[in-house]
Amino acid sequence: MNNRSLQEIVERISLDSFGQSFDYSATFNSRLRTTGGRYNLKTHNIDINPKMLSEHDELTLQGVIKHELCHYHLHLNNMGYRHRDRDFKKLLAEVQGLRYAPANESVHVYSYVCTKCDQLYVRKRRIDLRKYVCSKCHSRLKLKNK
Ligand SMILES: [Zn+2]
Ligand SMILES: [Zn+2]
Repeated sequence: MNNRSLQEIVERISLDSFGQSFDYSATFNSRLRTTGGRYNLKTHNIDINPKMLSEHDELTLQGVIKHELCHYHLHLNNMGYRHRDRDFKKLLAEVQGLRYAPANESVHVYSYVCTKCDQLYVRKRRIDLRKYVCSKCHSRLKLKNK
């Protein structure tokens, strides 16, 4: 999917679910890492993380688009557009948008366990088992999950 079809989908969802048009631009932005999308308060444009499609599916993409469109429409209508605002929560539920973008691979968690004392270590990244040993008993660690 390219930026042009993303634009069309956002415009269509805006009309179908919100009854109002989306008049700015929506583009894929691969620099987004921790969020599925972003609404820019100054330009009114919407950025979408391409991983929502490559690692998830079209339904997830639509949920993220609805989330960003909630920010957009509430902001332009001078209503509560922030996550903690009642207007935002209400509208998000009405259009069945996603509360949070789904976790992507970068938040994968690795657990390691000490081969001697069973102490558990949870890390966001893989660790080098030749370098790191248990901090309690200095024995070797092994990977517990993948
Ligand atoms: Zn948001
Ligand atoms: Zn140990």
